[in-house]
Parts: sequence; C-alpha cells; structure tokens
Amino acid sequence: MTSFNDFGLAEPITRALASENYVTPTPIQAQTIPIALQGRDVIGIAQTGTGKTAAFALPILNHFLNKKLRPERKSCRVLVLSPTRELSGQISDSFRTYGKNIRPLAIALAIGGVPINRQIREMSHGVEVLVATPGRLLDLVDQRAVRLDKVEVLVLDEADRMLDMGFIHDIRKVVAMLPKDRQTLFFSATMPQEITRLADQMLRDPSRVAVTPQASTAEKVDQRVILTDRAAKQSLLAEMLKSEKTDRVLVFTRTKHGADKVVRGLQKSGLKAEAIHGNKSQNQRERVLAAFRDGSLRTLVATDIAARGIDVDGISHVFNYDLPNIPESYVHRIGRTARAGAEGVAISFCDHEEASFLRDIEKLIRMSIPSTNRRSGPAPTHRAAPHSNGNRHGHGNGKRHNGNGHGHSNGGNGHRQNNRPQRDNQSRRDQRGNRPQQMASTQPIQPQAHGKSHSQPQGQVGVAQGSLGDVTFMREPRRQAGPRAPR
Ligand code: AMP
Repeated sequence: MTSFNDFGLAEPITRALASENYVTPTPIQAQTIPIALQGRDVIGIAQTGTGKTAAFALPILNHFLNKKLRPERKSCRVLVLSPTRELSGQISDSFRTYGKNIRPLAIALAIGGVPINRQIREMSHGVEVLVATPGRLLDLVDQRAVRLDKVEVLVLDEADRMLDMGFIHDIRKVVAMLPKDRQTLFFSATMPQEITRLADQMLRDPSRVAVTPQASTAEKVDQRVILTDRAAKQSLLAEMLKSEKTDRVLVFTRTKHGADKVVRGLQKSGLKAEAIHGNKSQNQRERVLAAFRDGSLRTLVATDIAARGIDVDGISHVFNYDLPNIPESYVHRIGRTARAGAEGVAISFCDHEEASFLRDIEKLIRMSIPSTNRRSGPAPTHRAAPHSNGNRHGHGNGKRHNGNGHGHSNGGNGHRQNNRPQRDNQSRRDQRGNRPQQMASTQPIQPQAHGKSHSQPQGQVGVAQGSLGDVTFMREPRRQAGPRAPR
C-alpha cells in the first residue's frame, strides 16, 4: 500500500489524515491496517515511533463507521491498554486527531496519578474508546464505574514494557473480564517468551506482522561511546552539550535520583535542564514535556520508564549518562532520536562498572559502537567486538576503525565470552532487584512470512567528526557476524 486511499478507509478518516499531511503509510501501517480491517487479530512487532498508533486506531475508527452502536453505560466499545500515563495520553490524542470528523466519538482516559472521580463521571454514559493503564482500570472496575463485557476490540500496546513494569497479572485479570468474541490487536517491541505465551492465550488465529527488527532500529542512529570515569560524567555531559550542535536532547539516567543530580549539575554549569520521572507530579511532567515539545526546554533528563512513550519528534541527541542494564532499553532509548525516518545521534557514557552492559548492548544490536577513551589510567582492554568473525573488528573491510586507536583496540581475540565478568547476572537486575525475566529469551525479531521487513539503509559507512575530533561513527550493521540465534 503506497497511499492511505488504498486501504478503503471511510472518507472522514482519509480526510483527517490528509489534513495531518499523512501521505504514505509506514510499514507497520501498510501491513496491519488491511488485516485489522478484516476483523482479524494481529500481533504487531513494532516500536514506538514506527506509526503503530495509527496502525490500530484507523481500522478501529473505520469499524465505528461501519457498525454504528451506542456504547452502553459504563462500557467501552474499544479498550486500549498501555503501560504509562504519557503513552495513554498520546494514544487518546491520536484517536481524537484521526477521528476528528467522526461523531459521536467519546474517548476517555483512565490513568493513575490524577483524581478518579472525573474518570468515573466520563465513563458513566459509556464511551467508544477507553485508553487505560491497567492499575487504574482495575480500580475503576472494582468501584463498578467501568464494565468490560461489551468490549469489541482490545488493543494491548507495548506488551513487553507492561511485563517490565509488572503489569502482567493485571492484564490477565482484565482479559478474563472481556468477551471471548472480540478482536485483539497486540503490539510489542520485542517478543520474550512470556509475552509470546500471553499472546497465545489472548489471540485467535492472529496474523503476525513485524517491522523494524529491534537490532536494526539502531542502524539509523549515529552512535558513539565515550569510555569515561564515573566521576567525570557530569562535566563531560556539560562539555558535550556546549560543544555539540544539538537541537533537542534527551539524557537518560538509570535512577530518579540520578536524573535530579544530573539536572543540578547541568544547572551549575549554566545549562538549563529539567527532569521527568515517576516522583514528579502529573502537572510537573506535563509542564516539562510541553516546554520540551515547544523548544523552550532543550535538555530533558529522564529515566527509562518516564521516557517511555514520550512522543516528541525532533530529538537530535540521546545521551546515555548511564548505560542501561537491560540491553533492549538501549535500543528503546536511542530510538527516540530516529523517529519517523529522522536520523539522530546517540552518545553513551560508559564507566568501568558498565563495561558488561556495553558488551550486552553490542551483542544485541550486532554492532560494535565506535568509542573514544577518556578514562584515566591504562586503556581499557575489554572492547572486544561482539560476534567476532576472527577479524578484530569483526568485519572484513576494516573501514570501521575509529581513527584514534582507542576504540576497538581490544588486544584480545574477539571472543567476548572470554572476558565476560561474572557479575553479569546480578548486574542485570532491575531497580526493584528483580531479574528481568524476558532477558533469558529475548532475541532479535525477524520479520515473519507475512511481513516485509522495514528496509534500512545498509552497507554505508558514515564517517563524521564529532566535536571530540577523534570520534568516528558508522551505520553499518554487523550482518555477516554469523547466524542469528534460533527463535
Ligand atoms: P507512533 O509510533 O504511533 O507513536 O508514531 C510516531 C510519529 O509518527 C507520530 O508523531 C505520528 O504522528 C507520526 N506518524 C505516524 N504515521 C505517520 C504517517 N503515515 N506519515 C507521517 N507521520 C506519521
């Protein structure tokens, strides 16, 4: 499908899309919309930024036009479950945008962190679409303000993130209350085993579509690593923000406390920054996000969970102040800067303690990220390329050298297992001390037979000088690095 007019969507929808200047469907839209329009269940493997919201919202809106029905009191015709308040807000905004020519169209939000009474009132007459986070939805059900027995379509968005955030039991509870005869549209960026099991239980004969395999998202982003001492990160960040040509910058820290500390440090250096994380009130978060969106705030510091679902285009730089202990989070993070076809820069600070995280990330994305050594003491000896093919750079053409002799000079044999630290299992525990269950099974997703892969530029080696002068970065995936692990 090369145009939105090819789907046979109703005119009020295509008119709304035209006014939003949507011309060409994204790959997830091109694959999902025709199947969903037939009423079939879909498993969509796609990340935020691929256009997946319209992929499920447009067929749903079309369904409303084909089957006109008044929602019953306290009921919704469509339930969208999403992991965060921000993402839920964005989804309901998208439904409003794409459905602006459709009447009646009541859309309600059921999210935590705001008073429940308004949500109870909004639901009293029933709505077409309810977008909810699982906890608040169950509260509303418990208070008998919402009933779920009239749901015609269920959308589960960012299922893997739901699992990360401990919502899996809530989801099972919600699903048990839904009619068995419904359509289910299920989206996840990755398909760890537990998510596959959940999908098997929830979906009927689903069609599976996959775009932007998680490893390839990274290919659009110019990535660099700066090996640094922990204590030097604060000044390094200030230096980079002053010297890099940045537009909108998202800085990631592992903890909320860390995010506040980075903001204070930047403010001391005369740089304006704000943090967004779970300890901030909904009002604060909205104010900060609005400033980030309108450009009055250039630097936003966030934790993974808070940043999830922030729908801001035009992020030029992602800084990983701390490397994430879950490698998939790295892909999610850097994906914030390569939305809707844009390209961006991702710069990661890696201290001694984070060496194993970096290796896990490189293994996942199947690339060796060019690095610069700013550490005190002897040059690090652990920069073994992942999936080495015998060549020290894991690559035949030798073009990936970073020019300064620091980055890839591991001096080793390229077998990353040889110097893998024993602390790995421990270090992968999340902030609650739980080992993320999906780690054991998460594998790069291959496009399925149904779907075309979202083709990414390949085979080009972009060489550019950053402000540090000695940084080279590239875009080429490590494709010939041996077979992928079995699914
Ligand atoms: P999503 O992955 O749904 O969060 O969408 C990412 C961004 O892409 C949002 O800002 C959408 O408004 C935008 N978008 C989605 N589909 C299209 C399209 N077909 N053409 C242009 N922009 C789009």
